[in-house]
Amino acid sequence: MTSRPLAAATVQLHEGYVPGTPQNAVATPIYQTSAYRFASLTEARELFALRATGNIYSRNGNPTQAVLERRIAALEGGVAAAAVASGQAATAVATLALAGRGGHIVASSSLYGGTVDLFDDTFRDLGIEVTFVDQDDIEAWRAAVRPSTRAFFAESVANPVAQVLDIPAVAEVAHAAGVPLVIDNTVGTPSLIRVKDHGADIVVHSATKFISGHGTSLGGLVVDLGTFDFAADPAKWPSLFEPHWRYGDVALWDAFGRSTAFTTLIKSRFVADLGPALSPFNAFQLLEGLETLDLRMARHTASALEVARFLDSHPTVKVVHHPGLESNPHHAAGARLYPKGVPSVFAFELAGANGETNEQAFSRAERLIERLEVVTLVANIGDARTLVCHPASMTHGHMTPAQLEAAGISWASLRLSVGLEDPTDLIDDLRAALDALV
Ligand SMILES: *Cc1c(COP(=O)(O)O)cnc(C)c1O
Repeated sequence: MTSRPLAAATVQLHEGYVPGTPQNAVATPIYQTSAYRFASLTEARELFALRATGNIYSRNGNPTQAVLERRIAALEGGVAAAAVASGQAATAVATLALAGRGGHIVASSSLYGGTVDLFDDTFRDLGIEVTFVDQDDIEAWRAAVRPSTRAFFAESVANPVAQVLDIPAVAEVAHAAGVPLVIDNTVGTPSLIRVKDHGADIVVHSATKFISGHGTSLGGLVVDLGTFDFAADPAKWPSLFEPHWRYGDVALWDAFGRSTAFTTLIKSRFVADLGPALSPFNAFQLLEGLETLDLRMARHTASALEVARFLDSHPTVKVVHHPGLESNPHHAAGARLYPKGVPSVFAFELAGANGETNEQAFSRAERLIERLEVVTLVANIGDARTLVCHPASMTHGHMTPAQLEAAGISWASLRLSVGLEDPTDLIDDLRAALDALV
């Protein structure tokens, strides 16, 4: 939009929208319309054949949504983006586009619960196999590769125990295997980490979380960073390289080129056919949130470290899983990949008597939560408010004891998503509740 490169704080306010409607609204308008009027039948024909770009119907695209797509693509350093109805839809359409034809995915075993359900249950039914590996074990990623592997998938920082992914190391193994690395950057956000700079190829977001930031609206995004060379092995990606009747018997790659073929595959097939379109109103809400992402992430990050340090000093807390603490096993990786500070979602474990049962740990967690007055019991993250949850009985409630242990979760673990309140109020609230446990 300008002749000079702009910083993220400027991009998040301006990219993708130039006031130009007859009303000249400075804020991006909400184009709350299901469909669009064509100037002529010829124009309609060209648009339907994807030979021209423009609006047809809001499941295929919408001007409010298009601004969001351009803005997030710019912030992640990508070439194109697709906005969808939720983070879950973003993960689903991105991985279906890569591995949908009976492909195989290698994924971290530390993933958002909804992603585990999608990969381990629904994808299995669809004939897409997923191998889960310990994300810190680089040899395990390499050993899991098969001829049918079409993607690696992991989160920039997994929750609840905030494992920092060594993105460069995993990207190297993915690229040696000839597949893209897909990163769920929901917790990291482009404000704290540009995963493209570390070797990622495709980003998915639950925009519901930090991008929205207000806890009001679901949304998801897929960003093609333009780094993966699909053309190096066209036989692996028939959806991109085989001529297709839907695109006038031309291959998507030939019709759209490297920068938009993958995003067009997602939008024109998986979003159009399966239907997880983002509403124009939610696109507007996500744009509103995005305008302050940089400011908010700085506050979230700094407050979370303060809260983590306080918890670490309290006698009723056994361990705090925050990579900003020197004692954390991911401290070095966090410092290397997150120079502005690590994200604000982390877990801590209450100290209990030896041989304590799960039921005893649960009731102690319950007593703590009952006494909290500012921190709120909610199964969400990335809200402006500080949220607490008990993973073993809530978000990770369907996991087996072995899976819980592998994920580093016990019945005494609590997850925090530190919000934008004054950190002193948060610490006072937690202190009062923790002191009462002694
Ligand atoms: C919430 C979340 C999702 C799913 O997003 P929805 O918007 O709830 O569908 C995916 N990944 C991570 C890391 C999340 O926190």
